[in-house]
Amino acid sequence: MTATLWLVATPIGNLGDLQPRAIEVLAAADLVCCEDTRRTGLLLHHAGIKAKRMAVCNEHTEHDLIDRVLRVLDDGGDVAVVSDAGTPGVSDPGERLVRAVVDSPHAVSAVPGPSAAIMAVTISGLDTSRFVFDGFLPRKGRERGARLADVAAERRTTVLYEAPHRALKTLADLADVCGPDRVVVVTRELTKLHEEVVRGTLGTIDIGEPRGEYVFVIEGVPVDDTPLTDDDIRALLTTALESGLSKRDAAAHVAAETGQPKRDVYQLTLD
Ligand code: SAM
Repeated sequence: MTATLWLVATPIGNLGDLQPRAIEVLAAADLVCCEDTRRTGLLLHHAGIKAKRMAVCNEHTEHDLIDRVLRVLDDGGDVAVVSDAGTPGVSDPGERLVRAVVDSPHAVSAVPGPSAAIMAVTISGLDTSRFVFDGFLPRKGRERGARLADVAAERRTTVLYEAPHRALKTLADLADVCGPDRVVVVTRELTKLHEEVVRGTLGTIDIGEPRGEYVFVIEGVPVDDTPLTDDDIRALLTTALESGLSKRDAAAHVAAETGQPKRDVYQLTLD
């Protein structure tokens, strides 16, 4: 068997979500990398197992851990990575170890399982056919403004993580950039005793006093699917022609923009 780096998902609240295969992989791993050895130790104790060896993997230590992980894999051992909750690598450590092992002869695999983002978007009732995970927004400055603007312009559903003490500020900022009518679903304490889902619009949603862990799911910019009339297309053609395009180029441009057959649009330029 190829030596493997395993990304092992762990519960986001309800310990019953720890899967049998996660337990098997964690018990067999020669090294378990985790954010907090005490917290993961308790989880393993709950599962009736003990890790062979543990190492702390957080944003400060992950880089320095790469050599050690590669040495274990070179010796034929398996390494498991877990975070405090959910799927490692999703707003959690793991990505740098994966990249290092991808560049080595060893394998990377996962025991998939809980992730707050996936749970929130799938229970939101919003469009799940295309969605964007945008993690935590930057706390302030131009970067925050730019990311908020991205959410405002996004056509797909957006999923955001947020800490309780920033929840109200982020909802207010989202209302400013997206407008009061955009639908938002605020999920809280998923899989836990006080799990809660509040649906509303950014202008009216009331989440009370924030407590616990939050995922916000925001509707994409509603797409206007009213069929275009010939007059709409003529107006677009006029703008394109006035910008200096030839009839042929204006027709090609408007056809691409509207999805109408090029021949029909060109005919309108002749008309
Ligand atoms: N890796 C994790 C995952 O797969 O969901 C996410 C880790 S990130 C550091 C922590 C954030 O995830 C929290 O601030 C919150 O936004 C979200 N989160 C984690 N557990 C949650 C839960 N049970 N309910 C709601 N949100 C949760």
